[in-house]
Amino acid sequence: MTTIADKLQAVQGRIGAACRAAGRDPAGVRLLAVSKTFGPDAVRAALAAGQAAFGENYIQEAVGKIVALQGLPIEWHCIGPIQSNKTRLVAEHFDWVQSIDRLKIAQRLDAQRPDGRAPLQVCIQVNTDGGPTKAGIAPQEVAALAAEIRRLPRLRLRGLMTIPEPAPDFAAACALHARARALFDALNADGLGLDTLSMGMSGDLDAAIQAGSTMVRVGTAIFGQR
Ligand SMILES: *Cc1c(COP(=O)(O)O)cnc(C)c1O
Repeated sequence: MTTIADKLQAVQGRIGAACRAAGRDPAGVRLLAVSKTFGPDAVRAALAAGQAAFGENYIQEAVGKIVALQGLPIEWHCIGPIQSNKTRLVAEHFDWVQSIDRLKIAQRLDAQRPDGRAPLQVCIQVNTDGGPTKAGIAPQEVAALAAEIRRLPRLRLRGLMTIPEPAPDFAAACALHARARALFDALNADGLGLDTLSMGMSGDLDAAIQAGSTMVRVGTAIFGQR
């Protein structure tokens, strides 16, 4: 049987190989372990193998895990859709939110972030391929939302997150990810100082790294099929 530690090591190997192929330093790509649907024991096993950042999609499920694992050195990222009535839970329990796709959610998170906690680190979720069922805002709306978020004192804008539609091959996946990279570069050319381009999952992390991803979000390849 392959353990979580083995699979984590294999994913790190893939990240290393993708970085070498792209001529990039592996230190420039963070791994987010997506633990949705897996219990606290799976998170503990990955943590014991050296993994510190975990992503969750379902707020209620995530909060149960976060509370169960309180006190451990884990950085929690919210990567799923957020309804208005869940913002308080998110503001109180997570370190990062990558799935911001409208100002109202950002404003509520800012208002509800508890005193004494570090600012919430946030990414704007962008729909770069026009996928009809996808969350995320249109690329041309990102600059305006970024400017608004930067005015919120308890939020710190770190970058962009994308979930492109599956592509038929490596070149097509690279081309999709390159759109997000171009937007990221354009925002930084305007002085936004973003350091996080979150893209790439179990199936396409190699293409995402080729296109400039700084954070890959990997679930299945670490924890198994959901
Ligand atoms: C589930 C999920 C992932 C991980 O997907 P895998 O294909 O299991 O690696 C990454 N990002 C988001 C936003 C997800 O919902």
